[in-house]
Amino acid sequence: RVQAGRLYSKEDPLTILSSDTLKETLLNSSTAWLVQFYSSWCGHCIQYSTTWKALAGDIKDWEQAIRIGVLDCADEKNFDICKEFGIHFYPTFRYFKARSSTFDIGKAYKGPDRELQTVRQLMVNFLQNHTPEVWPPQCPPLEPSRSAEILSLVGQKADHYTAVIIEEEDSYIGREVMLDLMMYGGMTVKRTLNLDKAFLDRLGVSSVPAVYLLYPNGSHVLMDVKKSQRFFFSSYLKLLPGVHRKRGSSAQRVVVSGSKGQKPAEIWKDFDKSKVYMVDMESGLHYLLRVELASHQTLTGDELKTFKDFVTVVAKLFPGRQSVVKLLETLLEWLVSLPLEKIPYDAILDLVNNKMRIAGMFLSEQLQWVGCQGSQSELRGYPCSLWTLFHTLTVQAALRPDALANTGLEEDPLAVLQTMRRYIRTFFGCRECGEHFEEMAKESLQQVKTLDEAILWLWRKHNQVNNRLAGTLSEDPHSPKSQWPTPDLCPACHEEQKGLHVWNEERVLDFLKQHYGASNISPQYAM
Ligand code: FAD
Repeated sequence: RVQAGRLYSKEDPLTILSSDTLKETLLNSSTAWLVQFYSSWCGHCIQYSTTWKALAGDIKDWEQAIRIGVLDCADEKNFDICKEFGIHFYPTFRYFKARSSTFDIGKAYKGPDRELQTVRQLMVNFLQNHTPEVWPPQCPPLEPSRSAEILSLVGQKADHYTAVIIEEEDSYIGREVMLDLMMYGGMTVKRTLNLDKAFLDRLGVSSVPAVYLLYPNGSHVLMDVKKSQRFFFSSYLKLLPGVHRKRGSSAQRVVVSGSKGQKPAEIWKDFDKSKVYMVDMESGLHYLLRVELASHQTLTGDELKTFKDFVTVVAKLFPGRQSVVKLLETLLEWLVSLPLEKIPYDAILDLVNNKMRIAGMFLSEQLQWVGCQGSQSELRGYPCSLWTLFHTLTVQAALRPDALANTGLEEDPLAVLQTMRRYIRTFFGCRECGEHFEEMAKESLQQVKTLDEAILWLWRKHNQVNNRLAGTLSEDPHSPKSQWPTPDLCPACHEEQKGLHVWNEERVLDFLKQHYGASNISPQYAM
């Protein structure tokens, strides 16, 4: 098994940060930073990791100006730092300026476009927005030069080459090439936006972007580059005789989080696929109550209503152990007794962690996955436990229709699903997962008219998600995404009509009620 945070490894051209290193790295850093706060259980973070690594590799030569970091908020030791930085969703991107003498939580990038090129250009913008007082000392000036300055250099001797990129105002090539070459000696890169005909004619430029090269001996020429693209410009310039990579130019790597305080790899726990494990659901509740929700300082308005309904549904329907059910019921009573518009989340944590423990009500503070364990620590875990919990709740709602009596949610066949939908939309850290789920809910949730249909709706939608994710990076090869229940678990659920596979939904419903029923929940491994 691989341990937490292993979406990224020491081999990747980026810095793996942790609670031990984040602040000391950012404070008064000689470079700016772009840090991705991710969660190793978040499917989108897993998918996105390839882009992030590619970006880090692509701008490796910029590392004395701006650097790329990652921090895994799903790693228990980072829970507090992610809370302190107000990370609610994953991935969250934050820029940090160089040379900041005071602690700040960075500037968020919330744009929907996370393509490599867009992020790279945003990094350039961010660098350019540094004032002279905090300008990263090694970063070359990125502002364009005036044509008069360029022309004054033409024909002059120097101890280095000067490459002049002539480009349009909205082009990034000049600044990117400047940064690409910043670790190279024997070369200065400038850029100009002057596209006056007289200026271009003087240099013999007929189309932009173009590179005009001034040799140390005073000769000068328009560079003949195969393609007017950043990669070609930078590569040609780096290959010129006398241009060399500066010695010791590779920035010192900051302490890698994995190198300190490593947890030993977890031991694989044998489990039975035909069972549901209490420990998975309890671990999920622990993570949800103490980490995911705890990143919100106060709950108010819709958030508070969503939280109250969530606690109601779980307190009334979760077929859990006495100590946990009692804790949830007491939390519910407390919430109902407080007609407040706003509740600080610390008060809830205090109740759950301290006050209730004294009265024998407690929820284990450990993350332990059994039916939800992954072959690598970034796979499965929390999202698996959340599905498991909500399937169990839809089944319990149908098996015990009176359980929600006097809660305001009784007689609503959608009570569990709507609560789940709002929880996922409001609090679930994987924002894109929430958006996908919301789309599915908008499309068909209203067609659900009975408690049995609610069970089947969630089953169908979960299979839709399984289908979409099959073969992607968030799939655990040891637990492939499949249309569930597989024939080995429920042969009667599968039929063939005219050579085509079809579900027998009546049998599926029976199976789900049995599988997620209280008597199929195993207490094994629960502490
Ligand atoms: P999971 O899909 O988590 O399933 C957990 C367990 O449920 C399985 O082991 C199986 O026993 C049972 N099960 C499987 N299918 C069904 C079914 N149809 N009905 C009933 N029980 C079933 N990840 C992304 O990358 N992109 C997304 O958009 C995304 N959206 C998500 C939306 C929600 C609401 C949630 C809770 C999670 C989402 N995830 C998403 C995470 C993803 O669905 C998985 O939870 C994660 O990849 C872990 O997968 P897993 O193999 O543990 O199985």
